[in-house]
Amino acid sequence: MSEPLQPRHLQILEQYLTASDGVIMIRYAANHIILAANRAFLAKAPKDPPPIGESIHGYVVDPNGRPCSLLSTPTAELPVGFCARLKPVDHTYQCHLFADESGYFLVGERITVGESEGLERMSLMTNELTNLTLELRRRNSDLEQANETIRELTRIDPLTNLPNRRRFAEALDAAMALARRHQQPLSLISIDIDRFKSVNDTFGHDMGDEVLKIFAGLLKDSCRGEDLPVRLGGEEFLILAPNTVVNDAYALAERLRHKLAETVLPKDVHISASFGITHLLPQDTYFSFLKRADMALYEAKSGGRNKTVVRITNDPKL
Ligand code: GH3
Ligand code: MG
Ligand code: MG
Repeated sequence: MSEPLQPRHLQILEQYLTASDGVIMIRYAANHIILAANRAFLAKAPKDPPPIGESIHGYVVDPNGRPCSLLSTPTAELPVGFCARLKPVDHTYQCHLFADESGYFLVGERITVGESEGLERMSLMTNELTNLTLELRRRNSDLEQANETIRELTRIDPLTNLPNRRRFAEALDAAMALARRHQQPLSLISIDIDRFKSVNDTFGHDMGDEVLKIFAGLLKDSCRGEDLPVRLGGEEFLILAPNTVVNDAYALAERLRHKLAETVLPKDVHISASFGITHLLPQDTYFSFLKRADMALYEAKSGGRNKTVVRITNDPKL
C-alpha cells in the first residue's frame, strides 16, 4: 500500500527543494487541478493564467509531448518514477509521483536536454562556431599579411631600402625566363663605388653609411619602373634592366656616373663608381650572366675606375 506523505514531511521537503532551480515540485488534486507548486515550476510556467487552479496536464506531458497517463491514473503503487516533459520550457525531468492526502505530489529533477533546447543549443553553438571561424579567418589573414611583411623585409636591405641579393636572385630567375619566352633583351649593370674604404677611413663609418644611402637614392631615381636596383652588399650594387638593350643600359650607367660626379655629398665628399654591363646570351645560366657583368666591372676598375665597360660575349678579347 502507498504511504501518504505527512504534511510535516512535505514541509521539510519543500523547504529543502523549493529554492532549487533544477527541481520542480507540484501538488495537485485527484481531479488533476494544481494546488501548489514551488518557485522553480512557477518560474517556468506562464503567468497568465497562473498554473494554480489549472490542470497538471497543461504543464506536464510525457517525453513525446503526449498526455502523461501516469499523472492521472497511476497503475503502479506510488511512489513511481518516470520521465516527463515540462511543456512551457520543453525541459525533460526525471519525476517521482507520490501520494498526498489531497491527491498527488510530483517531484521532478531536470535530467536531459529537450529537443527544442537541443536545437537552440546547437544553433547557438553553430553561431559560436561561425564567429570563431570568422575570427580565425581574420587572424589567418592578419598572419598572412604579417608573413608577407616578414618575407618582404627579408628581401630589403635595411640601410638603403633597396631590394637585396635574395630578392635579386628571385627576380633574375623570373626575368631570364620572361626574356627568353618573349625574346626580349635583358641587361645587367654591376656597380661598385670607387675607393669607398677611404670614405670610411677619412670620414667615419656613419658618413660611409650616409653616402651609401644617397647613392641608393640616385640609383632609384635613375631607374625606370621595370628596372630593379639592388644592393648586393657593402658598396656593391646591381641594376637588372628588363627589355633593355646594352646600348640603353650603357646610357643609363653613364647618366648615373655623370650625376654622381655632379653630386656634392655631405662634408664636401665626392665619389665615383665603376660600372660593368652585359646582356643575356642564349647559353647563359644565372651564374654566367652575373659573372660576365662582374668581368666588365673588373675591367672598369682595372682600367682606372670611374668608367663604364660593356661585355657582350664571354670571349675576353671582345
Ligand atoms: P675599389 O675602388 O677597388 O672598389 O675600392 P673600395 O675601397 O671601394 O673597395 P674595398 O672592397 O676595398 O672596400 C669596400 C669598403 O666598403 C670596405 C668596407 O669597410 C666598406 N663597407 C662595406 N659595407 C659597408 C657598410 O654597410 N657601411 C659602410 N659605411 N661601409 C661599408
Ligand atoms: Mg667592392
Ligand atoms: Mg668599391
